[in-house]
Amino acid sequence: MGRVLRILRWRVRRQRRVRRWGLRAEGLFRVLILGGTTEGRALAAACAAMPGVEVISSLAGRTSKPLLPTGRVRVGGFGGAEGLAAYLREEAIAALVDATHPFAATITAHAADASSRVGVPLLVLRRPGWAEQPGDDWHRVPTLESAAALLPELGERIFLTTGRQSITAFAQVDSCWFLSRSVEQPTPPMPKHLKILLDRGPFTLDGEHALLTEHRIEVLVTKDSGGPTAKLDAARAHGIPVVLVDRPPLPPEAPTVPTIEATLTWLGRL
Ligand code: NAP
Repeated sequence: MGRVLRILRWRVRRQRRVRRWGLRAEGLFRVLILGGTTEGRALAAACAAMPGVEVISSLAGRTSKPLLPTGRVRVGGFGGAEGLAAYLREEAIAALVDATHPFAATITAHAADASSRVGVPLLVLRRPGWAEQPGDDWHRVPTLESAAALLPELGERIFLTTGRQSITAFAQVDSCWFLSRSVEQPTPPMPKHLKILLDRGPFTLDGEHALLTEHRIEVLVTKDSGGPTAKLDAARAHGIPVVLVDRPPLPPEAPTVPTIEATLTWLGRL
């Protein structure tokens, strides 16, 4: 009887170990991608094609119809850095890639914190920011609030492309008219003189030209997100100024790469 009990206990312990470490024991390598971006989706597709790799993408759940990445997907916050650390442990994550938007600073800080708590290696994947070209009239500002403060001296008709959550920073700028473009409907407080355009990129150069002309836009406001440049190219061609909000700083301890290829190399080394 005692022997049977010992064997049963041993089996339970083994099952627990297998559940926790089984993926590693089987040679599988589980990667958690913090996503919600084009890069996050491209990386998930690339990882899913790698033999021996299982990928989980995490989305914040901000948009009602998100573009879903390949592979397993989870949606919603983790409950801070502590919650993310617990998730890394429970799911036996072997590598964490932060492929979130350059302005999603909170989750990036949480990723660095959770990674150091649990000892799971972290890489930040960030596409490069934009670079000014001849013919550009750019005004770099540190925050959305400083962008709002600058607008009245640059023009009256503003094309706002900083995203739904950023519109409140411009709510008090009564002397300007805004065309705001976002994927989802923004919520108050919002500027008094406002037209909302619900649309999702990628946007074409012709389309951007048409918008600037139709709405007689005098200033473009954008975050330095990087990626496709159609709106910046159109602004240059129209000779209109661009107010560019600088990126928040990255956590110093996390290595950062600009491309999917560099991320795959990092994963390969692990
Ligand atoms: P944020 O301010 O850095 O994050 C706020 C909270 O949202 C985090 O503390 C976390 O909640 C949760 N969260 C954010 N990203 C998450 C993810 N990928 N998976 C699970 N939980 C996440 O982020 P945000 O600016 O609201 O952006 C949210 C998402 O939208 C990100 O995935 C980002 O890539 C995407 N996005 C953002 C922008 C932008 O301009 N900010 C633009 C395009 C796409 P807990 O603390 O509860 O874990």
